Amino acid sequence: MRGPLNLYIIFHSLSMLMLLPVSAQTYTLRLMSRPAKTPKQSSKSSKLPIVVAILIVFAGLIGVWFLIMNSIEEEPKEQTSDSEIEEFDRSQHSIDDSSSIWVITNKQRPLQPGYTPEELVNPDIPLYGPRDAENMLVDARITNDLEQLVREAEEEGLNIALGSGYRSESYQRGIYNNYVEQHGEEEADRFSARPRHSEHQTGLAVDFVRPDGECSFQACFADLPEGEWLIENAYRYGFILRYQENTEDIVGYQYEPWHFRYVGRELAEELHAQGKPTLEEFFDLSPAPDYEG
Ligand SMILES: [Zn+2]
Repeated sequence: MRGPLNLYIIFHSLSMLMLLPVSAQTYTLRLMSRPAKTPKQSSKSSKLPIVVAILIVFAGLIGVWFLIMNSIEEEPKEQTSDSEIEEFDRSQHSIDDSSSIWVITNKQRPLQPGYTPEELVNPDIPLYGPRDAENMLVDARITNDLEQLVREAEEEGLNIALGSGYRSESYQRGIYNNYVEQHGEEEADRFSARPRHSEHQTGLAVDFVRPDGECSFQACFADLPEGEWLIENAYRYGFILRYQENTEDIVGYQYEPWHFRYVGRELAEELHAQGKPTLEEFFDLSPAPDYEG
């Protein structure tokens, strides 16, 4: 597409530059052959060639400027022109390594035994539990984006707090066993993960709540302004809604409009652009509705 434009600009610039000495020469000759005039006449009629010369120089300079800008702009494009559509690099992070920002854990994909994130910290956002509680911690790699998300939601008058972040394997075991006692194993498996299968153990998953506790861990959270905003905007900060509506057969859990998973802005934006497929779909993993065996 740029070929003909380039040729035109080169031709235009060169012709303008070539005209410049010709017009200057013509003007000089005219001045020399011109009979003497009164100062008034001379100044009036001699302005036109000067204006023309300036315009020619100006047009030439613009041509040269376009030529330079065009060549600067074009260089990096040539390097990527091999692939018509720039493919998202799905291999830039591991989805198997428990410590990877892209790790995918579900009922078919347990984390490494005893996996603990390298650095766990309290994010600087409202906490829905005691500061020293284990589940008020998150992986340090997500705090900047998490804090920015909560801050920008606040600027829109929305109040978002951390309901639950990191959970160790033993903590998750306690929660899960408790649910099994209350609801039976089959029902508990629909909303609670067995130890080593919870995203919370990675420190990369957060359950958001409102500080007043309205609709905490309930589907109606999606209808609160905070829930609506998170579902619409969390991806801009690198968080995805991990358990979407009608994906239980793939992700293994019911709709959880409060549970968000940090995957980084690049992947979150790509998933958003592709119509929000689940991580399992995006990475061509088999659906994980249940545990094996
Ligand atoms: Zn959760």
